[in-house]
This record gives sequence, structure tokens and C-alpha cells, in this order.
Amino acid sequence: TALVRFDDVGMRYDGGAEVLHGVSFSLAPGSYHFLTGPSGAGKSTLLRLLYLAQRPTAGQISLFGRDVRELGRADRARMRQRMGVVFQDFRLLPHLSVFDNVALPLRILKAPEAEIRRDVGELLAWVGLGEHEAASPATLSGGQQQRLAIARAVVVRPRLLLADEPTGNLDAEMGLKLMHLFEELNKLGTTIVIATHDTTLLARFRHPRLVLTEGRLKTMPPAPPPRGPV
Ligand code: ADP
Ligand code: ADP
Repeated sequence: TALVRFDDVGMRYDGGAEVLHGVSFSLAPGSYHFLTGPSGAGKSTLLRLLYLAQRPTAGQISLFGRDVRELGRADRARMRQRMGVVFQDFRLLPHLSVFDNVALPLRILKAPEAEIRRDVGELLAWVGLGEHEAASPATLSGGQQQRLAIARAVVVRPRLLLADEPTGNLDAEMGLKLMHLFEELNKLGTTIVIATHDTTLLARFRHPRLVLTEGRLKTMPPAPPPRGPV
């Protein structure tokens, strides 16, 4: 059974035009999709619907096999705990240190503090933020904040990882390193949806595409491989 299912989903913001129309797709457990489409096509809106951060104005969404309309607030919160999200604006918690931002999802799940110390320490070192554990997120560069947001999203090994342009602020080498991290997570069973404009990444990692054009969604095969030496 599908991990995510959209049936004829529509979204209209208050007083605005319809941003998504008749969007239907499903994501098998363990699948990996890129979400593409021009700016303004509705990619962020689709990710927010997946994260239960907003309610669709038409159609039906099922997550983890349950119709989200039937969920209460506590159920929605529990589902969000099984998801990792990298928002375009990062949404780091400014009053918490770098370490505590990443530790928070583990603390919510009541992981033992020794395990938190170890896992968060390793992950921060791996994304190149080991020296910044005690810093405030506001003191980090844009690329460092993006790495921090990614570390926070993956630390619990979520069932579903959603990321909005997660490599947009990173140099090519760090971007590739994090794309390889997503590949590893996917091999361990995490279902992934990554919104990206980056045609190099699309051609290199070759996952099926959810393509949004003016609010309509088409599922397409992976982008063709790059020509010539990479
Ligand atoms: P993308 O991520 O593909 O750039 P978005 O989902 O951000 O697309 O936006 C799709 C459309 O919805 C745009 O026209 C945008 O202006 C509009 N939109 C997005 N968020 C809101 C909002 N909170 N209120 C009103 N309109 C919005
Ligand atoms: P609340 O808004 O009651 O504090 P949440 O924080 O769980 O509850 O909800 C965040 C957002 O999700 C709200 O804007 C709410 O409208 C939206 N939402 C509520 N119910 C659903 C649902 N069944 N599916 C998707 N989004 C929902």
C-alpha cells in the first residue's frame, strides 16, 4: 500500500487563484522522487500539504495509509514526527544552539541522552558543523544553516523526507555529499521527495520526477543521463 496518496487534490489560497488542480499521485514506500517545475508552479504548496502544514481545499490526502481528514491534532503531530522536512527558509530555532536544534526531534521522541550526544555529534561533524555545536544558528552562513536544517531533518531517520531546494545554498561539492546522504537514507528505507531546479542533480541521480506545471502534476521517468564525462 502507498505511503502517500493524493486523490484529485486542489489548493486555493484565500481570495487567490487555484494553485493546485486535480493533483493525483501516490508514493510507494521506499521510493525517491524529484519534484520539479517552474517557480510559482506550486512545489512548496505541495510539500506543505504533504507535511500537514496546511489543508487542501479539494480532494483527499492519505498518509501512512490514513485519510488525513480523519486525524486529530495529536495524530497529525505524531505523523509529523515520522517526517523530516527541509524548508526553503530553514526554520531553525534561534534560541537553541546548533546542537540543540538537531537534538530536538530526538528529545521529542524521548531518545536516551547518551544516544543523542553520540548521534547528533557524529551527524554535525559529518556535515562540517562539528566546530559550531554551541553556536547560535543566526551566526552561521546560509550554507551552514542549510546543512543544519538537513541534519535536523534526517537525525531521526524519518519514514518520509521532504526537502525544498536542499542544495540551493551549498557549493557543488557539499551539494553532492548531501545528495549521497539522501541516497543512503533511501537505501535504508526512507521515502524521499526533493523539490529542485538543479538540472545537474536531476540528470545525475536519476529518480522519477513529479513535474508541476501551472498547478497540474505529471509523473515522469528520470531525466536522461548527462552526456559525456561528468
Ligand atoms: P513554487 O514552490 O513552485 O515556487 P509555491 O507553492 O510557492 O510555488 O507557490 C505557488 C503559487 O501560490 C504562487 O502563485 C504563490 O504566489 C501562491 N502562494 C504560495 N503561498 C501562498 C500563500 N500563503 N498565500 C497566497 N498565495 C500563496
Ligand atoms: P492547529 O492548527 O489546530 O494548531 P496543527 O498545528 O496540527 O493544528 O495544524 C497545522 C495546520 O494544519 C493548520 O493550519 C490546519 O489548518 C492544518 N490542518 C488541520 N487539519 C488538517 C488535515 N486534516 N490535513 C491537513 N492539514 C490540516
